[in-house]
Amino acid sequence: VVSLQVSGLAYAYPDGTQALFGVDLTIRRGERVALLGPNGAGKTTLVMHLNGILTAGHGTVEVAGLPVRSDTLREIRRRVGLVFQDPDDQLFMPTVREDVAFGPANLGVRGEELDRRVRDALDRVGMLEVADRPPHHLSFGQRRRVAVATVLAMEPEILVLDEPSSNLDPASRRELAEILRNLDVTVLMVTHDLPYALELCERSLILSRGVIAADGATRSLLADD
Ligand code: ADP
Ligand code: ADP
Repeated sequence: VVSLQVSGLAYAYPDGTQALFGVDLTIRRGERVALLGPNGAGKTTLVMHLNGILTAGHGTVEVAGLPVRSDTLREIRRRVGLVFQDPDDQLFMPTVREDVAFGPANLGVRGEELDRRVRDALDRVGMLEVADRPPHHLSFGQRRRVAVATVLAMEPEILVLDEPSSNLDPASRRELAEILRNLDVTVLMVTHDLPYALELCERSLILSRGVIAADGATRSLLADD
């Protein structure tokens, strides 16, 4: 099963800056893939196409076979779980539990099913015991894990993380790596943290000037650098 298929994706910003020049990539269900590349390479622009924040100038994006289009955006945003770099952009409710419930509740999930989703998502990131605390009382590393839970509660096809290891102390970094390794979900992580990519992702993509310059085993790609 293919989680993500990007074909011939090209995009120029309204000011004319061409950010993507024909990106092709396929990610199969259950893969964990790192998206590497220097600043300005187009990583953010690519990620914004995965859930339709931006829509393709040319080319197509499909998530588990469903094309990203204006009339599919609601389902696409359920299938593509974005974890922002700053968890405080994602957590805004009085308690952790309410933050994790927000997404599925917004989709109409109610009652026992909602409780199950929240419990399950918090359990997967090891944050069940803080369910009734306000997010802003948690450490940064804990807030990032809760941000991951808010997305897991949507039961996404693919989890897309922007710099997941940034600003984490060594212990939080290890804990998050352990959590991500144990999720049975497709993962695409944008990162500059090569050790993290090596540790977590068998496969890496290198985006350079709007094209995929390399796609292969992380170990061999990083050895070439
Ligand atoms: P990365 O995430 O890899 O750093 P970006 O996707 O942010 O790369 O940027 C890709 C290219 O698009 C760069 O040349 C950047 O300057 C340009 N760019 C990004 N956002 C905008 C914007 N809103 N308007 C115009 N150009 C932009
Ligand atoms: P619509 O109901 O119009 O499809 P959305 O379901 O995308 O809208 O969500 C409405 C608003 O709530 C959007 O601004 C979205 O960014 C935000 N939102 C949705 N889910 C979450 C979440 N889990 N955490 C934070 N913000 C969210």
